[in-house]
Amino acid sequence: MIYTHTIRSETYQDFLKQDRTDPITGEKIEEGHTVVICAACKSAFFIESWEYLNESHCEQFETLEEIPISKNLVLEAKPMEFLNFGFAYQPMYVPSSGLKVIGVLMMIAAPILFPIIGVSFGWAIAIMFFLSIIGFIGWVEWHNSKPLKLKNPTIKQIENTKSYLNIGINLKKGGIVIKEKNNVERLILFENIHELKYFINYHPTQDLSSRLFCQLKLRIDGYEAVSYYATIHRETILEWSNFISQLPYNLRIINKDF
Ligand SMILES: [Zn+2]
Repeated sequence: MIYTHTIRSETYQDFLKQDRTDPITGEKIEEGHTVVICAACKSAFFIESWEYLNESHCEQFETLEEIPISKNLVLEAKPMEFLNFGFAYQPMYVPSSGLKVIGVLMMIAAPILFPIIGVSFGWAIAIMFFLSIIGFIGWVEWHNSKPLKLKNPTIKQIENTKSYLNIGINLKKGGIVIKEKNNVERLILFENIHELKYFINYHPTQDLSSRLFCQLKLRIDGYEAVSYYATIHRETILEWSNFISQLPYNLRIINKDF
């Protein structure tokens, strides 16, 4: 069952104020558009985009029956919980581009060097040289399909090893708390957050193809924007979803590609 919503200014004032864009086309969602809300990440999609995604996002098919409405910030003294997955300043999937460049250069050089080595040192050595280049290129591919600097990574390791920031909401103090590895906590008051932008996408690497990653950008008044990255797994998407829905609705939350 897909729940669709046709945006009318009388009933969707609040939604229109959120200035949402469709994550696929990047187009602004305006009055008259029919949208679908992903139940997991609360992103709004044009119905056409939802169909284009084979009616699924965040590895699930559920859509929200109702557009989340404005709510007042509940200043309840709840214990603060940090998200179960850690963030980092750098994305964790980035393959080594340096190795790739060397691989490409070797591929270009190989046919030129092959006859030179063959004539100078013998054809057996030239063949060995050629095979070692193929081996090297294969190794680069294999190496780049793994997250950086992790030997036999388990899911937990991917989340924690290079993640040194934990993010949580402190409802009592009214802000987002960022905790560094050394347990230093930084409170960013909701009122100082100019904009919170997030985007959930699939990892571009092969063996992480079914995993999601989250890019989060916080614009804080008087500061430069800070970007954070995290790997989000199937099991943790709900936590991210809760995180977003706990944020006060007067906070400018944008869900779109960067
Ligand atoms: Zn989603």
